[in-house]
Amino acid sequence: MKSVNFVDVKDESAIFDGQGWDALIVVTHTLKGIPVDEVRLFAEHAASVDNRVGQSTCLLLAPGLAGGKLIIAPVLQVDDDYQDVRIYSDAAKAGINMAQASGALKPILMVIEANDERFQLADNVSALACAQALWQPLEKREAGKVPESIVEIGLFTSNKRGHKLSAIEAGRQLARDLCGTEPERMSAIRFSYYCQAAFEGSAIGIEVIDNIDLLIHDYPLLSAVARASFAVPRHHPRVVKLEYCGEGEITRTFLFAGKGVIYDTGGADIKVAGGMAGMSRDKGGAAAVAGLMKTLSLLQPKGIRVIAQLGLVRNSIGSDAFVTDEIVTSHADCRVRIGNTDAEGRLVLADLLSHLRIQAKSAPHPQLYSVATLTGHVVRCYGGYTAMVENSVAKHAKVGVHIQQQAQKWGEPIERSSLRREDFNKIIDPSGAADVLSSNNGPSAITARGHQYPAAFLLKASGLFDHGLHADLPLPFTHIDIAGSAVEGHPHYGSPTAAPVVSLINYILEG
Ligand SMILES: [Zn+2]
Repeated sequence: MKSVNFVDVKDESAIFDGQGWDALIVVTHTLKGIPVDEVRLFAEHAASVDNRVGQSTCLLLAPGLAGGKLIIAPVLQVDDDYQDVRIYSDAAKAGINMAQASGALKPILMVIEANDERFQLADNVSALACAQALWQPLEKREAGKVPESIVEIGLFTSNKRGHKLSAIEAGRQLARDLCGTEPERMSAIRFSYYCQAAFEGSAIGIEVIDNIDLLIHDYPLLSAVARASFAVPRHHPRVVKLEYCGEGEITRTFLFAGKGVIYDTGGADIKVAGGMAGMSRDKGGAAAVAGLMKTLSLLQPKGIRVIAQLGLVRNSIGSDAFVTDEIVTSHADCRVRIGNTDAEGRLVLADLLSHLRIQAKSAPHPQLYSVATLTGHVVRCYGGYTAMVENSVAKHAKVGVHIQQQAQKWGEPIERSSLRREDFNKIIDPSGAADVLSSNNGPSAITARGHQYPAAFLLKASGLFDHGLHADLPLPFTHIDIAGSAVEGHPHYGSPTAAPVVSLINYILEG
């Protein structure tokens, strides 16, 4: 299945039969405001005999229009101050699902934006929502169980935006495939192969570290998590390094660490009482970062360099599993006492961030990030929203504010949390034997500040703590927790969302 391709349709005549388009979907808060007379008349006539038109998604027989089908997908609640652009996503998803169910294969999407700053990108957001609704799981595709479906959508538009949206969607599809696939099909090794295939011949450099001795030496915390998987060769860990270097003088550098826990049993602190189902999606951070790189490879923005490290590891359980109380020295030479083996994501990220820290030292205007399905606490705290936790330098530079603005416009809202002194107190090893304690020994969901304090750990264990506002070389770092937003729908088996790819790519491009 190719990712959905968006084509700009500028000419009104395409709405009327004959150019291969086979349905028209109108996403609108008003029937009166539909700009094409014939389309508006169809809708208004239908509404005069059926109260549902304009209130719920309807398919109208429309001779003379593309495919003879007009789908009106109403946007409700535009006057509700607490709604955001996602009311357009909801309408667009309902519209594209109806188009698909009706047998359409090449619909045109027309979006009428309400005159409100909140909805300024409603056309783009609606288009991406259609693609999200159309995605099918990789396992199902590979089993040949997906019937012919929509792979091209015409965007009735006066702007050129099809190319950008297609590139974003290609990245999101890669992210969904990597995140959503079961743990054997998308083991660490096969995840790395999937990335190699996705970036072959592209503008992205890729290197895969597959030597276990090298991983143990260079990524000691990651390798502690992976230890129980060493006995099973097909479950071995990998680190995937990706790099994009745009044309021209590099003026900004973005460095991303992605958590790719292929499957999280919890390790020796095993997840019990059914808490393990869905844990193949614990690789959503690495998946999102790979997706972001895919979009970059297609858009090829100038003047920036983007470096990523994906830590792919299975948190297995077995006789050689790492256990609590062990003290492991991180790549940044921080001695970490393991507080809970189910708090493994921060261990993986800390080593990746330490490598990125070294690269950042000589990079023009670096910004560091970690992206991870990290905590149950963020889900308890914010529900389905992404959270950001900035270090002092990123906060001072308003990194989070700027990402949040893009996120809001693009219908992928993000909450900002603050890192506070109590967060650093939580990672003190009470025995004094180690430099830090990785976590408390209880579920994060019932731990106060359970999604904020891991950022304190990441700073200490990666060495980034020494690059604060008053250091010789301050380094901005933003930790992004997507545990609540990586999947929508069913808590274990819902569709991956590829969050926060849309927010990050637009933040990078808007610069
Ligand atoms: Zn875990």
